[in-house]
Amino acid sequence: MNLILISMGVLGVTGLVAAVLLYIVSLIFKVEEDPRIDLVAAVLPGANCGGCGFAGCRNFAEACVKAGGIEGLACPVGGDPTMEEVKKILTPSAAAEETAPVASGDKKGFDPVIAEKIKALATPKAAFPNLIAMAQKL
Ligand code: SF4
Repeated sequence: MNLILISMGVLGVTGLVAAVLLYIVSLIFKVEEDPRIDLVAAVLPGANCGGCGFAGCRNFAEACVKAGGIEGLACPVGGDPTMEEVKKILTPSAAAEETAPVASGDKKGFDPVIAEKIKALATPKAAFPNLIAMAQKL
């Protein structure tokens, strides 16, 4: 009986130490990602066809955010309407920067329509954890 209790104790302590170590390592190597990537990815068709020259929609979204605009980038599947949505996300209007923080508490200066989309997407079931964190700041 004693041997069973000792074994359980050793395994429990080992598991606890491993969990703490994993938590600390996850904090050290945490990668901060621009939350706009999730926004752009959300408006893309999601076909992951590679027609834009990137491996998939997520890679295309990362490229758009990295470029800070849509110059030279295009999604042939979504076409111009999709690229207009991407452009709106990447270039918050000056008017939105002036009014949105007061009107909606949007600290990032996004267009109010985009801010509403962020809030709508950020449900507990949303597949974009960064989006949830961003919506909580709105
Ligand atoms: S072309 Fe459009 S739908 Fe296809 S992978 Fe690129 S962004 Fe996604």
